[in-house]
Amino acid sequence: MGIKTLSQLNPQKAQVILRCDLNVPIKDGVIADDGRIVASLSTIKKLLAASCSIVIIAHLGRPKGERKSELSLAPIAKRLGELLNIEVSLPNSITGIASQVRALKSGEVMMLENIRFESAESSKDEAERSALAAELATYGDLYVGDGFGAVHRKHASVYELAKLLPHAAGDLICAEVDVLEKLTKNPNRPYGVVLGGAKVSDKIAVISNLLDNVNLIAIGGGMLFTFLAAQGKEIGKSLVEVDLIPTVKELMQRAEKLGIKFLLPTDIVVAPEFAASAKPSTVSIDAIPANQMGLDIGPISAANFAQEIKKCKTVFWNGPMGVFEFDNFAQGTKVVAQALTEVDGLAVVGGGDSAAAVRKLGFTNNDFGYISTGGGASLEYLEGKELPGLVALS
Ligand code: AMP
Repeated sequence: MGIKTLSQLNPQKAQVILRCDLNVPIKDGVIADDGRIVASLSTIKKLLAASCSIVIIAHLGRPKGERKSELSLAPIAKRLGELLNIEVSLPNSITGIASQVRALKSGEVMMLENIRFESAESSKDEAERSALAAELATYGDLYVGDGFGAVHRKHASVYELAKLLPHAAGDLICAEVDVLEKLTKNPNRPYGVVLGGAKVSDKIAVISNLLDNVNLIAIGGGMLFTFLAAQGKEIGKSLVEVDLIPTVKELMQRAEKLGIKFLLPTDIVVAPEFAASAKPSTVSIDAIPANQMGLDIGPISAANFAQEIKKCKTVFWNGPMGVFEFDNFAQGTKVVAQALTEVDGLAVVGGGDSAAAVRKLGFTNNDFGYISTGGGASLEYLEGKELPGLVALS
């Protein structure tokens, strides 16, 4: 899409405003997975090597314009400082600190507090976003966008700010776009897409858009039960989005007409309740008890999915096959992840949650062709949507 790269911008001794995606899982003040921080290092190190000073803008969670101490970027600034072996300062305010920000010296890194503490960041009102962007623009000479996980958001620090300064995309965004282009333009075939996660509403558009381009679609996770319901099956207390049943029916019919292999599980791991300690049992999809809920794909289905995945030359996977956070319901996700590591071709894990899931299950980044940092962003790219954060950098 012709985005400008860091080497084209060639920043030297400049003060650079860098938008990163550092939205990492934090539990009780401790970072559970620092993948997104690590993924941001390449650009930061390049800027430091070019004697730049850096003002990092990032967000955490959804504070919705309110200051929430549990969503402070303090643990993230600290972790980044450890990884870079320098101090990363974190002023208390976001706005009204131009002179403090401008006092940064070459080689110094400052992180602004969670930009979503400012309601203007994600305001629907363009004038509000532009006003915040105009103030942030006084904090530096150049803008580098590297927060891939936020490029689908028309937010002040992602979109309006980029347009106010000479700009470029950082290494992470370039790498992400490179992989997504491989998935959308002439992927090696067979091309398979594996989708899971909780909600079918999040994935329906991507399934619809991908149908014309893929050879195989496999569906797991909580979303699979809307498909089973569309086939008229009893799904007990499993997750379902009833209003989407007609859309899902239509999708399955289209897939059939197009001759796409559309894989749904044949067995399910069910339990009486949504809990780590809930007693699991495996049943056929035709025998889900009315008082139980499906929490994972069954072993026969997982093996079948794995076998089909391994035949592909290109695979994109987004969303766990079951409630992987509970050990009893993590097996389907594990088997599918393992199959992706064995693909003879390009295997892409899409999304922060899926990435954290595979790392929690003991896999490493190197086990896969590529692990994307942006779930929503990569799905919207595959839906064929224009992403504001990429448009602003082109
Ligand atoms: P998503 O953010 O849509 O990719 O969804 C991820 C979440 O889906 C994870 O936290 C999983 O625990 C959850 N999930 C996966 N399978 C199921 C299921 N069968 N029932 C309920 N939740 C599920």
